[in-house]
Parts: sequence; C-alpha cells; structure tokens
Amino acid sequence: MTDTRTRIVWDYAPAPESPDHVRLRDSYGLFVGGEFRDPVDGTRVPTINPATEEVVAEIAFAGPQDVRGAVEAARAAQPGWAALTGLERGKYLFRIARLIQERARELAVVESMDGGKPVRESRDVDVPLAAAHFFHYAGWADKLSYGVGGREVAPLGVAAQIVPWNFPLLMAAWKLAPALACGNTSVLKPAETTPLTALLLAEICQEAELPEGVVSIIPGDGSAGAALVREPDIDKVAFTGSTSVGKNIQAALAGRGVSLTLELGGKSANVVFEDAALDQAVEGIVNGIFFNQGHVCCAGSRLMIQESVADVVVGKLWERMGRLRVGDPLDKNTDVGAINSREQLERITELVDAGEGEGAQRRTVACELPSRGFWYAPTIFTEVAPAHRIAVEEIFGPVVSVLTFRTQAEAIEKANNSAYGLAAGIWTDKGAKAFEVASALQAGVVWQNTYNHFDPTAAFGGYKESGFGREGGPAGLRPYLRVS
Ligand code: NAD
Repeated sequence: MTDTRTRIVWDYAPAPESPDHVRLRDSYGLFVGGEFRDPVDGTRVPTINPATEEVVAEIAFAGPQDVRGAVEAARAAQPGWAALTGLERGKYLFRIARLIQERARELAVVESMDGGKPVRESRDVDVPLAAAHFFHYAGWADKLSYGVGGREVAPLGVAAQIVPWNFPLLMAAWKLAPALACGNTSVLKPAETTPLTALLLAEICQEAELPEGVVSIIPGDGSAGAALVREPDIDKVAFTGSTSVGKNIQAALAGRGVSLTLELGGKSANVVFEDAALDQAVEGIVNGIFFNQGHVCCAGSRLMIQESVADVVVGKLWERMGRLRVGDPLDKNTDVGAINSREQLERITELVDAGEGEGAQRRTVACELPSRGFWYAPTIFTEVAPAHRIAVEEIFGPVVSVLTFRTQAEAIEKANNSAYGLAAGIWTDKGAKAFEVASALQAGVVWQNTYNHFDPTAAFGGYKESGFGREGGPAGLRPYLRVS
C-alpha cells in the first residue's frame, strides 16, 4: 500500500530583534580620564556590521600619544582608587553590573551588529555573563586576602588589557572586573573590528560615576596594542588573543618586571567514548564547535570519536548540522551568524582548502547564504590525519575535524598531541573514566558531558601555547595582586 500522507514542512517565521531601541552615536571618541576625547592625530575608522557590510559607527583609533595619555590618566587615578576600602570599590562594581543588566537588550543587539554573533547568544550568554563577572568580583573586593589563602595583598598598579573580537564585552568584563576589585586601574584596548560594546561600557562607567581615569578604553589596531605593552609606566599586561601576538608581547616584556597573563588560542579535543549518551553528545558537539560561528578560543574543533561509534555519531551530527539555521544574527532563531570579518573568512577558507588538499573528506551543509556580508556554512571533515593542518591549527570558524581512537590511552595521547592546551570535553557515562581521562589531559578546563559552559566562579586559562594565568573565580584575583 502506498503511503499517501502529505509531508508537512515546518519552518520558522522570522523573529527579528529590532535594533530601533539602540541609540548609537555616529562617532565615538577615546574614553580617557572619564570622558570621550578626540584622538591626537584625528584617526577615525568605520566599524562595520559583518552581516551587511554597512557602517555602524565611526571609531576613534588611538595613536601613541593617546596611549601615553591613557596610561598617565590610569597612573594618576590609581592611588586614590586603591585607597578606597574594598567595600567602596565593590559598590562601583555592583553599579556597573546593574547598569549592564539595565542596558542588556541594547548591549546584546549592538554586540550582534558589530560582531555578527546570533542575538540569542549575545542576549543569553555574553551580556548576562559580563554582568555576572562584575557581580562576582564586586563580592571579592572586600575579601581579597581570603581569595589568596589569608595572605597580605596589594594591587599591582596600572593594568594594560588587550582583548580580541570574539567576545568583546565579555572579555572586557573578564579583564576589568578583577583588576578593579583588586585596586588596579586599567587601560583597555578592544579589538579593531568590535569596539562598540566596550565603548558602551565606557558610558556605563560614566553613569556609575566611576572616578575618572580608573578605566580608560582606547580602540585601535595592533599598533595601539603594541604601543600599550611597550609603555614604561605599566605594571601588568593581561592579553587575550592569538598565540603569535602573545609570544610577541612576552618578548617585549622580557626583563621588565611587568606581570603578564596570556589567554591564547586553542585546538581543543572533544572526546566521545562509546558508552556516552550519543544524542546528548551530538548536542554538545554542535555547541562546542558552532557556538559563535566557532570563533571561540576553547571551541571543540578536534572531535575525537571512539571508532566503534564513529559512523553513528558522524551520521547523527551531520543530520543535526543540516538543521542549523545560518543567517541574520538579529533573528532570534539563528544558530550560526556572520563571520566576524573578511580577513577571518579568508583564513577559514584557506584552512578548509588545505584540509581538502591534504586528503580529508569535507562536507558542508547546503544552505542559502545572504548575498552580502561574510558567511561560512557549517562544515565537517572526516578522514582527518593528526598531521593535517585542520587537525593542528586553530581554524576559528564553524569547521570541525573528526579523528578516531580505539582505546582510552590512545584518546589521551591524541588529545594531548597539540601545541595548545586550553580546554577539552569528555563524553562518557562512566564517572571514574571521566575523572581518569580529565586528570591526564593537558587542558586548563575539562568539561564532562557538556561543553562551552562558563561561570564567573570557575577559573579559565591554558596550558602550553594556550597561555598562562587564570581568569574567573578567586584564582582570577591572583594575577592582579602582589601577595606577601
Ligand atoms: P589577535 O592576537 O590578532 O588580536 C587580539 C588583540 O590584540 C586585538 O585587540 C589586537 O588589536 C591586539 N594586537 C594585535 N597585534 C598586537 C601586538 N603586536 N601587540 C599588542 N596587541 C596586539 O587575535 P584575534 O584574531 O583578535 O582573536 C582571536 C584569537 O584570540 C584566537 O587565537 C583565539 O583563540 C584567541 N582567544 C583566546 C581566548 C582565551 O581565553 N584563551 C579567548 C578569546 C580569544
């Protein structure tokens, strides 16, 4: 008998988040000494929406004299800030956290417009976590010595903080909240393609009546970052970004007695054992690599599956990838938004081409991509050898490379076979196995039966070429304190 039922195709109605409530200025200055200033040499650069290639605003870029001015403002403000009681400093941080919450919708929309990430993520992850970091460190401000085993503490002084474009507001919060709680002042340099939410955070600092000079925010390109770390009057550098720039900074600081924290790249292993709940694992794999278009330092970009279940997992994953919605970041149904910049798109394309050239099997989801903007459809590589570039280098895009293993020992060896060591995932129903494998993995964070879960109370940071120092939790206080 023929099945005469009609196939019903369910689709989503568009659910756009309106940007109408966002009041952006046409042009933003540098935030130094509590006010927005023009750059000394007058350089202004447009910041564009990577989903439409339209200009969102003009941004002042800091030159060397502006960098010097920001460091001077931070130095002048530091003794007064450090002299406040921890309780008083904590009140300012609470205020900033509350103002982030009040302006959450605006911040989420601007983050998605400036960076391309789905508004569902900026609304549910970036902005609430940024507020949570300020709340968390507000609570620590009057308990600093408890965070370091009861020892005497003092602030380091002026912190130079440099952040990348993948989590612009959240990375600014990770940097500023602990630095300020500990009595340091800060000069923060956002990434060139995503300065806007940091500048809204500058407005929030004004609204919170933060004493002038405690926070300066100076957008600019790599040269501004390089000038900042070379400023003689800084006490601390906290850098999040690529390993190559991290190494350059480390070399620049050699012999200077400036404290350094480096949060660098990764090629994290997401390890699926045959006894795992496979459907749950597939959801975790998707979250691990397609969250924020794969522009995540700890992305689970090396998917390692036990050979006995590899075909099943890849089959389920491919089917699930076909249901990801790629497109307008401001649509609340979107799972995968725009690639952050043309340069990043070129880098992803180059590495994917290299993967094919080296003989791995590529499959890319067939989906309609918008005609303007920068896009990359979710992609999976199988038949990957450990030496292929796509198994070794950070792609920083929605591309997952699948490797297989037979035994637990082989899984550990392959997972650790990387210059990086930022994060890892383990999928198994056996608690003992999870602990055993986690303690053998050279990774700063190991998630069990979940992935990409962040919390301000938990320390985050790397091993090997993923950097050193920790952010988050009481461990995140240490890099900003002199402990005696
Ligand atoms: P990037 O290193 O190119 O830039 C990061 C920041 O450094 C930007 O603000 C940039 O302007 C600045 N910069 C560039 N050259 C500089 C120099 N010579 N001196 C000082 N500053 C300089 O990295 P990116 O492409 O913006 O970000 C992606 C990288 O960041 C990836 O490798 C990713 O893994 C890493 N990342 C790491 C973490 C983590 O916590 N470990 C978090 C997010 C991103």
